[in-house]
Amino acid sequence: MEEILLRAGALLTQAGACAWGCADSAWLLPRMREEAREKALEQMPGLKRLLCAAFPYARGTERAGRISRYARGEDYHRALLRRLRPAAEALEALCPGAVFTPWADSSPFPEVYAAARCGVGKLGKNGLLLTRTAGSYVFLGFLATDAPLPVTGGDITPCRGCGLCEKACPGGALRDGAVDPEKCLSALTQRRGALTQAQERLLRGGGMLWGCDRCQLCCPENHGLTAAPLPEFARAEPPLTEADLALGDRAFRRRFTGRAFVWRGVQPLRRNAALLQESKAEGASADHMPRGGNEERTNNYGK
Ligand code: SF4
Ligand code: SF4
Repeated sequence: MEEILLRAGALLTQAGACAWGCADSAWLLPRMREEAREKALEQMPGLKRLLCAAFPYARGTERAGRISRYARGEDYHRALLRRLRPAAEALEALCPGAVFTPWADSSPFPEVYAAARCGVGKLGKNGLLLTRTAGSYVFLGFLATDAPLPVTGGDITPCRGCGLCEKACPGGALRDGAVDPEKCLSALTQRRGALTQAQERLLRGGGMLWGCDRCQLCCPENHGLTAAPLPEFARAEPPLTEADLALGDRAFRRRFTGRAFVWRGVQPLRRNAALLQESKAEGASADHMPRGGNEERTNNYGK
């Protein structure tokens, strides 16, 4: 099985991962909520291991903008599954009788903890995994398997705990490594439907149409990154014009098909644009607000 694990690592690296590891389900399952555990075991009754892989999407040195770096390229669910499937098929061919099921983002597993447990990176106070070469600018992909592969890693390594992410967070959403989605600008820009007045104020001041990179841009663990972002993610921010935002939902989805910011349709983006416009009209133009926290001062991480 040692040989299969090494092969798995080579396949995941070939698929574009900048770091990978293997976690034991005996550690993972007792730490999951009952509903999530049931879902995982329903999908794979003989689950034994979770192979974790981190795929780089940015460096933090990209131009500031109004769409978060993670959402500027191809929808990562789609891209990661495309990259993981050949690795899963190759491993199933190498391990007759074993199953390797790819997951991207929507798995029932506590993904960041699982990745930290198997040594893919440190556990950040910003709730993100911090890899050595791509920092927190990674998407996590997984292969769940019933093959008893050797495990990697061990005790979870926390980040340096400087607290800069908590200070940079505009909504005060971070506490003890957990993100409160009611106060997180990124979560709120993606929410459909009504927001509270306080949440609308946060959006007006945040200057973002979609997402928020502040707790990543300020993080010292994101300095000096060396991993190159994968090409499907390393795209310039698409200009979203007034005409785009006036499109009907289906037409909007068609126009930006395959992009990560369309999954909730046009409504949240249209609302976010209107709030930014209001803010501008009130003289507190989002153009004059700090975008991406202290981005202007620290946006030189690639040095
Ligand atoms: S900013 Fe500091 S506390 Fe926050 S994740 Fe980075 S290293 Fe950890
Ligand atoms: S994404 Fe933005 S709002 Fe959300 S926790 Fe990070 S800094 Fe706070």
